[in-house]
Amino acid sequence: MGLKLDAATPPGAASDARPTVEALRRSFDKRLTAPVSFRREQLRALGRAIESREQDLLDALHEDLRKPPMEAYASELGFVQSDIAHTLRHLDRWTRPRRASTPLVAWPGRSRVMPEPFGVALIVGPWNYPFQLLLSPLVAALAAGNVACLKPSELAPNTSATVARLVRDTFAPDYVAVVEGGQVVSEALLHERFDYIFFTGSTTVGRAVMRAAAEHLTPVTLELGGKSPCIVCADADLEVSARRIVWGKFMNAGQTCVAPDFILADRRIKAPLLEAIQRAIRQFYGDSPRDSADYGRIVNDRHFARIVGYLPQGRIVQGGDHDVRDRFIAPTVMVDVDPAAPVMREEIFGPVLPVLEFEEIEDALALLRDRPKPLALYLFTRDRAVEEIVSAQTSSGGMCVNDVISHMLGKDVPFGGVGESGMGAYHGKAGFDTFTHYKPVLRRAWTPDFSLRYPPFKLSRRWLKFIYNWLMG
Ligand code: NAD
Repeated sequence: MGLKLDAATPPGAASDARPTVEALRRSFDKRLTAPVSFRREQLRALGRAIESREQDLLDALHEDLRKPPMEAYASELGFVQSDIAHTLRHLDRWTRPRRASTPLVAWPGRSRVMPEPFGVALIVGPWNYPFQLLLSPLVAALAAGNVACLKPSELAPNTSATVARLVRDTFAPDYVAVVEGGQVVSEALLHERFDYIFFTGSTTVGRAVMRAAAEHLTPVTLELGGKSPCIVCADADLEVSARRIVWGKFMNAGQTCVAPDFILADRRIKAPLLEAIQRAIRQFYGDSPRDSADYGRIVNDRHFARIVGYLPQGRIVQGGDHDVRDRFIAPTVMVDVDPAAPVMREEIFGPVLPVLEFEEIEDALALLRDRPKPLALYLFTRDRAVEEIVSAQTSSGGMCVNDVISHMLGKDVPFGGVGESGMGAYHGKAGFDTFTHYKPVLRRAWTPDFSLRYPPFKLSRRWLKFIYNWLMG
């Protein structure tokens, strides 16, 4: 169902979303999504629909963010296709009820843990990976047997419209619905009762989502942002480190939730690291990144102005040029940045890379301890002892040693934030678990039916303790 409400829709009119949510609930209540064969069919249909509209989707992503097709395929369409393939491979196992032991106190009896869907799931997506971050949670929601309502980001309007068409042509409107629009629409949706809310976006809006969810006691997953630090030690391979950092930082023009936000470099290698970073930028995007087909643009004028506002907050050693006409900001590296400056307090979410220095690893950790827990923490070192110290003494959604971003590619590892970078996780089985309630079911035999447990209680406390410990194992 491609319900479209304008971002300026007054709050009263936004209740147009209610019939959509009610239709989803009625359809879920028929339990049509319960058979695993049904879920498989739907996931396969989604995979085919993505494949047949590949060019439309790549065009939409290019129009919205000037994403290079190769990057867009790898980080958006291909990612979701691999989610579908992985899910189809494991769905039978994931959906199988698990036998569990039954304590003597409930004997004779049989215990199972049954995975059951929550029901109607709301999935709200951001604009930076507007396809992957909406559809990847959808794969998990459908695999777990839910029905879903998608709210794409209005800031990637071409992708939003293309996804709405794809969903409308692929699924029954009371199975997967799309409600397009901005903040007003999103707020109106959040007034409705959902059984699960999966939100990806900023920490500020995440708080609002959680407040709204509390009204109906709806469980939430919040995939939020933050400043992901990148520590480079003196023993790191500087050329490889620089290439990997530049790749992760300037992909999608820095508008990636797990992009390294800033670098903490050992003072001894800061200068050669900066040179290696500059070389990598030239190698990837040429002398004029503006003319590179592989370099993206900032999503809108508001974000452009916000990011340009950071440029005077440090000494620029690379890039810094920008043009509002096509919202271009060159890959920019800056040094001499005050740790208290806004560029070091706010999530940059753009192609500006501050490089700070540290003397001892302890100093770097002290700086991180002062800050909210990030979505990712990156460390470049050959020293396993340092790796252990950093992983044991810091908390972050995920951690990656000697690379960036790649830690979120595995389907067997959960992806999510902690503290201000979010709560809950998904990808692979973790996604299935997120959209699943694990319901224990115990079946008792009718006999024996010992009278001991019923009032009036006759056992002495001593006997009770003895029997209780024995029966409970
Ligand atoms: P955003 O929070 O502004 O918007 C996200 C979604 O919420 C959009 O669909 C938007 O329409 C809706 N929305 C906006 N205001 C709302 C409100 N008051 N109430 C309810 N809904 C509202 O985020 P964004 O600008 O689209 O995305 C950028 C942010 O998302 C960054 O902070 C980034 O780090 C984070 N992010 C996190 C992940 C992750 O996986 N953890 C991935 C991508 C982006």
